[in-house]
Amino acid sequence: MSPITATPSGIRWSTTYARSTTYGAIHSRLRRTRGRAAGYACTAEGCDRPARYWSWDRRGPSRTGLNADGRPVVWGTDIATYSPRCPQHAAFIDHGGTDTRCPFGHDRATAGRKHTECRACHRIRNRTRYRRNRMNAQAPDVAAAIQTLDFPDLVAFLDGLTFGAYAALVPHLSTTTIRRLFDHYAALETPA
Ligand SMILES: [Zn+2]
Ligand SMILES: [Zn+2]
Repeated sequence: MSPITATPSGIRWSTTYARSTTYGAIHSRLRRTRGRAAGYACTAEGCDRPARYWSWDRRGPSRTGLNADGRPVVWGTDIATYSPRCPQHAAFIDHGGTDTRCPFGHDRATAGRKHTECRACHRIRNRTRYRRNRMNAQAPDVAAAIQTLDFPDLVAFLDGLTFGAYAALVPHLSTTTIRRLFDHYAALETPA
């Protein structure tokens, strides 16, 4: 059903579409009721750039679905939980962090950035890649080696694995670590 209907008095949004919580419906409702994000200033504290996107604050009711690339995405279903943000601050929030903290909790002001990534995370990723390469080169017991990684390194390491390799390593992790991983992934999926 088309979201808009022609009526004698003009164009009317269908009531079905008005209640819809699909990604497309939420974004057209945002534009219709709050206007274009580009007309606002970015709401991140201390940012003086113009906004470009209606960016979800990662709070309130949400839905999960697949985007055009087939990747899972989460979006808010209440338009009051969106704020106008510039591209950088929209990306900060979209990737699971906040205006002031990266997704792993590093202070953005002191950590700095490497391209668009938190510099502290970038360092960890490089270190982890180095360790992974070394592990592959020396072919030691990977299950034993991952016990030495601290949590952010472990997450970065697991992120780089195929699902099969991931599944093979999970039984070697402690219950506490698995619970922490579970909480970590859940926090990326659901609003605080
Ligand atoms: Zn901004
Ligand atoms: Zn970081």
